[in-house]
Amino acid sequence: MSYQVLARRWRPKRFDEVVGQEHVTRTIKNALKQGRLAHAFLFTGPRGVGKTSTARILARAVNCPNIDLQGDAEPCNVCETCLALFEDREMDVIEMDAASYNGVDDIRRINDICRLGPVAGKKKIYIIDEVHMLSKPAFNAFLKTLEEPPEHVIFILATTDVQKLPSTILSRVQRFDFRPVQPSDVAPHLAHICKEEKWSYDEEALWLIARRAEGSLRDAEGLLDQVVSFGGNKVLLEATRDVLGILPSDLLANATKLVANHDVKAVPEFLDDLALRGVDYTELLKSLQGYWMDLVFLKEDLKLAGKSTDEIENMKQAGADLSIEDTFRLIRLAESLESSLKWSTSPRVRFEISFLRWATLDRSVTIRELLDRLENGADFPTSAPASGTSGSSTSAPVKSPPTARAVLPGKAPAVSGQPASGTQDLGMDDLHKMWPDVVRILRKRDPAAAALADTSWTLTAFDGKKLSLSCQSGDSFATDQMKKSFPNLKVALAEVTGHDLILIAAVPVQSLSLDPASQVAPPAPPAPSGEKEDLFANLINRFGGIEINPGTAREPK
Ligand SMILES: [Zn+2]
Repeated sequence: MSYQVLARRWRPKRFDEVVGQEHVTRTIKNALKQGRLAHAFLFTGPRGVGKTSTARILARAVNCPNIDLQGDAEPCNVCETCLALFEDREMDVIEMDAASYNGVDDIRRINDICRLGPVAGKKKIYIIDEVHMLSKPAFNAFLKTLEEPPEHVIFILATTDVQKLPSTILSRVQRFDFRPVQPSDVAPHLAHICKEEKWSYDEEALWLIARRAEGSLRDAEGLLDQVVSFGGNKVLLEATRDVLGILPSDLLANATKLVANHDVKAVPEFLDDLALRGVDYTELLKSLQGYWMDLVFLKEDLKLAGKSTDEIENMKQAGADLSIEDTFRLIRLAESLESSLKWSTSPRVRFEISFLRWATLDRSVTIRELLDRLENGADFPTSAPASGTSGSSTSAPVKSPPTARAVLPGKAPAVSGQPASGTQDLGMDDLHKMWPDVVRILRKRDPAAAALADTSWTLTAFDGKKLSLSCQSGDSFATDQMKKSFPNLKVALAEVTGHDLILIAAVPVQSLSLDPASQVAPPAPPAPSGEKEDLFANLINRFGGIEINPGTAREPK
């Protein structure tokens, strides 16, 4: 006997056996019981979720003489009518695929034949699959019959693309939306099949299949077929991973550990291993995103179905050093790398460079953590990010704060008791304290800029949101160089302070009146903010402009 694929062998024969569509089958059964069946149904939904199967069950239920309408309202599946339908020799049920028969003549034929009464059953039932494929004239011809169908006819239309149906059709049918079948419904169904077929199985393997099928029960059964023929009537985890091309979770755990621990030294060996395995880097990135998403679930104490306790324990260990923010950031990075690999001629190189970078990424620091550290008062600057084991970050000597502690007249920092306008928890003094950390992070992105930041840049003013910096050398070239580093500096500042600051290049600090003791506003101009003044002077210097009305000078965004 030839092998019958699972999806066919396990096609549901009763409403109760349709997986994951109870909202549809219950309504239909109730309509059957109450004798209020519509004359035209529309079953919509993605492929492989049970639309045609349900249509066939309904066709049998309508004509089965043994149906118990006081009871379960299921077809008996043993009478001559039911059997005839199983064997495709039922005269009163006509199935048509609109993908192949979509012309106006095909529909006219239906219009004509459906006038004739049923041969044996109570009703004549037309199942039209992929009905959105009908041509426009065919829809028009069909509409007439739908408007005034003969009493003895039921139409069941099925489509994967309901958007393409004319509204005139939609308004004349009872619509049922079939949903993608959830893995939590698919996995137990697959387990049921395995038990009935007497195949041994790993629960986790079934969940892998259920997830990979992405809502299609038919696809899940097809995948199970493949795994069983590969594994010899066994559904084992390793074989399933091989068939589905899913990477082993210890590999994903290893990748997570390397990134979490900044274990840069171990990265080359890992990358070589990947290359030896001949992994598909796009698939790997997909798997990593899935793994990290599961990790977020674990960290949030959310339910994670289909994982063994061992695997959950391994995942927790692998990602122990990652915060939820870090994990989300990694998911985003992997996602964007995945989409850029599509256009890359050398995915391996791109992946390797990116992965190395991820392993050197500093942790994101939340504002709450910063506040905690500030409240605890202790070693804020040196304890910031990068608790890596690689030692790469420990080599940076902690320098004393930069030379200039200049506070422009009228610019009282938060320390003086006056809250700053933008953020209440960050003042000039804080920035000076954090500066060595900022420089250290900047060094990873731009070593040359970091060297200058350390030796020749000066923080000149800060109002809680805008930070002015100047170069000690004061020439325009040095200022330009500094401005070019602002994007990287901004990132470094954000990482250390938790704030997104606006950076402004100011004129050299020496050229302005500097008297830290004086905390009153200078006599003229009348109270413009420090960096406004700086910027204005800077603009005039650079472009040779003249001052017309300093009071309305606009700040750049
Ligand atoms: Zn029957």
